Amino acid sequence: MHQYDYLIVGSGLYGAVMAHELNKSGKKCLVIDKRDHIAGNIYCEDIEGIHVHKYGAHIFHTSSKRIWDYMNQFAEFNNYINSPIAIYKDELYNLPFNMNTFSKMWGIRTPQEAKDMIAKQVAETGITEPQNLEEQALSLGGRDVYEKLIKGYTEKQWGRDCKELPAFIIKRLPFRYTYDNNYFNDRYQGIPIGGYTAVVEKMLEGIEVRTGVDFFEFRKENPDIAGTTIFTGMIDEYFGYQLGALEYRSVRFETEVLDCDNYQGNAVVNYTEREVPYTRIIEHKHFEFGKQEKTVISREYSSEWKVGMEPYYPVNDEKNMKLYEQYRELAEKEENVIFGGRLGGYKYYDMDKVVEAALDKLEDIQNGMN
Ligand code: UDP
Repeated sequence: MHQYDYLIVGSGLYGAVMAHELNKSGKKCLVIDKRDHIAGNIYCEDIEGIHVHKYGAHIFHTSSKRIWDYMNQFAEFNNYINSPIAIYKDELYNLPFNMNTFSKMWGIRTPQEAKDMIAKQVAETGITEPQNLEEQALSLGGRDVYEKLIKGYTEKQWGRDCKELPAFIIKRLPFRYTYDNNYFNDRYQGIPIGGYTAVVEKMLEGIEVRTGVDFFEFRKENPDIAGTTIFTGMIDEYFGYQLGALEYRSVRFETEVLDCDNYQGNAVVNYTEREVPYTRIIEHKHFEFGKQEKTVISREYSSEWKVGMEPYYPVNDEKNMKLYEQYRELAEKEENVIFGGRLGGYKYYDMDKVVEAALDKLEDIQNGMN
C-alpha cells in the first residue's frame, strides 16, 4: 500500500538510530531533513581540517554500558575528558565545582575547609527545600559560587531570572570535594574519532535520505508515502501551534578562524559574568587534540527562539511543561506518528538519553505497542 514502511523526519541522532534499526529489521525507510545535510545538531563542518561543531559543542558521555557499546558500533571514541574553565571578571576557575574551584575561590586546601565554608554560606541562605534554580544553586554551593559561577551564566543562557528556572538544570552539574575537573560523572566519555557526521553517515548507510526537504511541504504532495511517520521536529509546529507556541532557546554562533595554533588552551571556556555578552567560547580542535596550524573558535550567544531561528534548548519550566503535556496528549491521539528527540519530546536530553529513548521506542514497536 505504502511506498515506505517508515518516513523519518529529521536525520539527527534520534532519527538516525530509529532508521538504522528499522532498516536492519527489514523495514523500508525514507529519511528526510529540511537542512542540506544530515546529522541534525551533531553535524560538524570541516574548517581548516578541524571538525567544527556547527550547532554547538557535543561531548558524548554515558553511564550506560548498553548505550556506550551501541555507539561504539559506529565509531571508536577518543579519550577526551571535558574540563571547562570559567572566567569571572579577571578570575579563572575550574569547573565543575570541585576542590580546584573552592581552593581558588577561598584560598583553602582541604575538603573539610571547603565543606565548612559552603555549610556556613548555605546556612546563611536559610533555604531548606529548594524550589527553583537559584535556591538549588545556593543550597548546593553557597553565595560565592552562585554569584560568581552560576547566576550570570544561567541568566544569559536562559534569558530568565534564576528564580524562575527549574532546579533540575543545575543538578546536571557535579559538585564534588575532590580535585577532579572532569565535568561529567559518567563512566564513559569521548568524541567519536572521525567526527559525529561520520557516525550518522554510518547509521544511515543503505537507507534513502533526502536533504533539503521540508516535511510540511512534503506531506502535502505525499500524504500516504509511509505507513508510520517518526517526527523529530518541534511538536508544537507539527500541530500548527494550535495550543500556542512552546518556548525554546536559540544560540547564535560567531565562528572565527584564527591564525594561531592555540587560542585559549582548552575546548570550553565559560564566561560567567553577566556583562560579557556570550556564554562561552569553544575552541573546536581541542576536542580532538588537533595539531593544525590554525584554530577555529565559536562564541555562543544565547537568545529567545523565534520562528525562522534554530531551536536548541526546550525551556522546561512549569508553564511550558503544562503546554507540552497538552501537545503530548494530542500526539498520543495522532495515528501512526511517533514523536521523539529533543524537539519531538520537548526535553533537555543529552545524546546518550536520546539514543536510549530511541532504543526503548524500538522495543515498544517490536512489541507492537507504539
Ligand atoms: N551553568 C552555570 N555556569 C557554568 C556552566 C553551566 O551556571 O559555568 C549552569 C547553567 O544554568 C546551564 C546549566 O548549568 O544552563 C547546564 O550547563 P551545561 O554546560 O551542562 O549545558 P549545555 O552544555 O547543555 O549547554
